[in-house]
Amino acid sequence: MKDIFKITPYAREKALTYASLIGDKEYIGFLLRPLDDEREITQDVVLGEVSKSGSFVKIRGDNIVHVLNQAYNEGNEPIGWLHSHAKHSTYFSSKDVEEMEKDAIHDFSPVTLRTIIEQIQAEQVVEDDLTKLIIGDAFEIECKKEIPNIYQKRSIARVWGYVVNANGNEYAEVAKKEYCNSCHTELISPTKKVDILVEDLHDNRKVDTRKIEDEVKAKTYKPLLGFKRRKVAPLTEEDKLAFDFTARLADAYQKHPKNLSKFKNLLQEYCKSAGDSHG
Ligand SMILES: [Zn+2]
Repeated sequence: MKDIFKITPYAREKALTYASLIGDKEYIGFLLRPLDDEREITQDVVLGEVSKSGSFVKIRGDNIVHVLNQAYNEGNEPIGWLHSHAKHSTYFSSKDVEEMEKDAIHDFSPVTLRTIIEQIQAEQVVEDDLTKLIIGDAFEIECKKEIPNIYQKRSIARVWGYVVNANGNEYAEVAKKEYCNSCHTELISPTKKVDILVEDLHDNRKVDTRKIEDEVKAKTYKPLLGFKRRKVAPLTEEDKLAFDFTARLADAYQKHPKNLSKFKNLLQEYCKSAGDSHG
């Protein structure tokens, strides 16, 4: 069966609204579905982070936890990720493909893991009281009684990737992971382009542009990774004096690195003035 990326009109409009509001910058977020809905249909999207500059958006680990926790609390779970390409065309870059196959397939797909049980292609030949089971050209087994059907259990997980841009273009890919419960091997199929189907589930939700604007502001990448910018208190007279002193000290050292007497003089002068000011 052909894989198709399915998204509701609401989720799609929200994804495109983020992109058009963010404009020249890129964003990264998640594709969500309700926890109680087994269908792989994106019914909501959530913004993760907005990049500081034009290209290359990356989401911090603590933000992933924060954003997805909130999604779970609102009754949703991720089935993939989305990002924007600002005003550039929509496609999957080699970096995007790598993200799909190395991280996203493990991080955002286990919830979509489906165990399927399939019958092994086999042929049974009954001759007199002997049953012969032929599995392709792999092997043959002879048995004195009828052999029951042999089933193999496989788990399949899919992760969806959706790319939008500020001009309203869109693009989607899917990556697949298969896990064999018998031999415990994991096979990741290369990510591939898929068609997009807008499926109206008539949930009647409307995109609130004002709310999205606030969300964009709150989730715009901070220039210093992991640090919050704090307001710096103005310098006191004492600070200024100390700064001035260290500047003169550095200057003296650079001019006469071997002559420490100038240093000593400066230090004495500084200590005296500091002592004076404190009585
Ligand atoms: Zn990309």
